[in-house]
Amino acid sequence: MAQHYIPENLPTHIQHYIGGKFVDSVNGATFDVLDPVSNQTYATAAAGQREDIALAVAAATTAFREGPWPRMKPRERFRVLNRIADAVEAQDARLAELETFDTGLPITQALGQAQRAAENFRFFADLIVAQRDDLYKVPGTQINYVNRKPIGVAGLITPWNTPFMLESWKLAPALASGCTVVLKPAEFTPLSASLWASIFAEAGLPEGAFNLVNGIGEEAGDALVKHPEVPLISFTGESSTGQLIFRNCAENLKGMSMELGGKSPAIVFADADLDAAIDSTLFGVFSLNGERCTAGSRILVERAVYDEFCERYAARAKNIVVGDPHDPATEVGALVHPEHYAKVMSYVEIGRTEGRLLAGGGRPENLPEGNYVSPTVFADVSPEARIFQEEIFGPVVAITPFDSDEEALRLANGVRYGLAAYVWTNDLKRAHTFAQAIDAGMVWLNSHNVRDLRTPFGGVKASGLGHEGGYRSIDFYTDQQAVHITL
Ligand code: NAD
Repeated sequence: MAQHYIPENLPTHIQHYIGGKFVDSVNGATFDVLDPVSNQTYATAAAGQREDIALAVAAATTAFREGPWPRMKPRERFRVLNRIADAVEAQDARLAELETFDTGLPITQALGQAQRAAENFRFFADLIVAQRDDLYKVPGTQINYVNRKPIGVAGLITPWNTPFMLESWKLAPALASGCTVVLKPAEFTPLSASLWASIFAEAGLPEGAFNLVNGIGEEAGDALVKHPEVPLISFTGESSTGQLIFRNCAENLKGMSMELGGKSPAIVFADADLDAAIDSTLFGVFSLNGERCTAGSRILVERAVYDEFCERYAARAKNIVVGDPHDPATEVGALVHPEHYAKVMSYVEIGRTEGRLLAGGGRPENLPEGNYVSPTVFADVSPEARIFQEEIFGPVVAITPFDSDEEALRLANGVRYGLAAYVWTNDLKRAHTFAQAIDAGMVWLNSHNVRDLRTPFGGVKASGLGHEGGYRSIDFYTDQQAVHITL
């Protein structure tokens, strides 16, 4: 039976934060928030409606038009952003504890995510003080320069996987650019988002620059997307939601950044360092409970090492520790919500008819309650299989053999997604040739999912639209006005 750890001083009610004040929905609507170990309601959260979004956008608009934030010197914003990072670091243990309670992520991994959130603020603070704008001269005739201006109120809509870190990935560049924001966090996991309010206030972020409206996607999220005074939406979530938001943004011709789903391949050639490839591909799909957009959830293995790879991989998968997310020994915790658990379990059942089950296959026997799924490995999965084609977003992996480079590439590219790819080979030429040919926004060669924050982040095909990361994020949140002076 899973131990049920409950952090001290848990809130029992989670509110919006609008214009510097915690408030409930105007009509008093709420929704229940569950913890994924007991699946019991531990809090209610204010369920934002159109009028709550309107109030949040109004507060953000006033802060943008009249407040100091967009007008501050980059160096002043830098100081506030660094104080935010300091505060996140100073309470990383508490943040991780709450994140783990709300999401079911293993505590050691939640701690890493809190630290990444702090790093996002430091990184974008550094970037804005180092920013250079373009100047073009036509000697004796004309000077042209680029006047970079924050766009206005940024609408930020985020998913439930690593929520605090993913919120920081939008909040940091939006605020660094001088925008004011309205954040709509995922309804499964509203707890950590509510912590931003006091962190920002103590760091000196002016009132109204940060606003938070909790709520259901189809209500609060939809109202934010359709609000005419919000000129851009940064969205991370499922591809189907992204398509709907795309349509809804069209009415007001909004700027959009879309970080969507994935079904990323890890391709293991016979000449690869098999030990390293096995370590990394286990991490790639079983870390963060498999609830990772860049999960390497399809492993393509060259026939010469296929049997050995499958055997060793399955043996390791069976040894992964599934358990109470708060236990530091846990490697896979509880999936975020019973609805998501049911979805992942349905794919495990589909997988039994589509592949050869090598490990896992359902709930661990020693964990009769909570959203626990054993790390599940299916081999001999054909490219037509649903578990090969569809994003499962849980600890389930499909392994498929290949016989040639051409076949490996065809398999890798044979899905609608194109977020990440991982290539394992000791042939340098092949590695780079593959990187060029593969449909993926990000490729890791003989390496893990570790990024340099200056590089582009985003996907191709159904995995996204636009790339953030480094100055690309600042570009997204700013207008670049051309100013021409004739001499
Ligand atoms: P989701 O699309 O269900 O929800 C994401 C957010 O959108 C939530 O806040 C939700 O309330 C909101 N939303 C839902 N319907 C809406 C609507 N009609 N209008 C406006 N907002 C709406 O996604 P999820 O299940 O929370 O997250 C998992 C998905 O996110 C996976 O597909 C995963 O791959 C993807 N993801 C992608 C990245 C990336 O960077 N590419 C990162 C993390 C997660």
